[in-house]
Amino acid sequence: MLKFWILLAMAGMLFPLGAMASQAFPTDTLETDSGPVEITLVGHGTLMLKFKNRVIHIDPWTRLADYTLMPKADLILVTHGHADHFDPTAIEDLRKDNTQILLPAVCAEGIKDGKVMANGEIVHMDGLIIEAIPAYNIVNMRKENTPYHPKGEGNGYVVTFSDKRVYVAGDTENTPEMKALKNIDAAFLPMNLPYTMSPEMAADAIKAFQPKIVYPYHYGAETMAGMGDMLKTELEQMMKDEKGSEIRVPGLK
Ligand code: ZN
Ligand code: ZN
Repeated sequence: MLKFWILLAMAGMLFPLGAMASQAFPTDTLETDSGPVEITLVGHGTLMLKFKNRVIHIDPWTRLADYTLMPKADLILVTHGHADHFDPTAIEDLRKDNTQILLPAVCAEGIKDGKVMANGEIVHMDGLIIEAIPAYNIVNMRKENTPYHPKGEGNGYVVTFSDKRVYVAGDTENTPEMKALKNIDAAFLPMNLPYTMSPEMAADAIKAFQPKIVYPYHYGAETMAGMGDMLKTELEQMMKDEKGSEIRVPGLK
């Protein structure tokens, strides 16, 4: 466990470095019955998904990428208002005429044509189904009675691509709503303390909702392969008596 904290501290220090060094990001692929979902982990809590020539950016953040050089967005999903998730400059860089933007109410101001999604809402959009899942802290508090992520403000999203369901949790702990999810093929679960989940919390959630593939994310610099490796090992150790969930870290050899 000590290593977890040391690497976490290092991740914090290294954060500003390396992020813009190249536009090459770790990727993975999820096969569906209508073709692949190409997954790019841009870094920290930021993703880009491509499916059938459509580009979905999730929490685009200019600290991790030059978004003027990234593929323009058909859809942008924003999970909550913290600066590492909600970056209006990145959204402007990615916009084209028909870009759809789904975001929670706390992020709506100043984002032209953004569509607000509250916890629990479902949107059907161009063959995709997008569900907003509550994302919040139960245990970790900024100060007494003030969670880092208050219930009701932030969304995670389940996006259905043909026959596959991808869950991007946002900044959250192992909430009852997460643990009640069904039929999740790939889950991005945030792992850094004190803001999101410990390995124990993530393992508890994985045991409950049994996603087929788990991607730990939101643990700092995207170049910290060592951190991803360590989280994978730790989760696999905790899950060793469970079958059915594979832990993956894109870019890890
Ligand atoms: Zn946050
Ligand atoms: Zn965050």
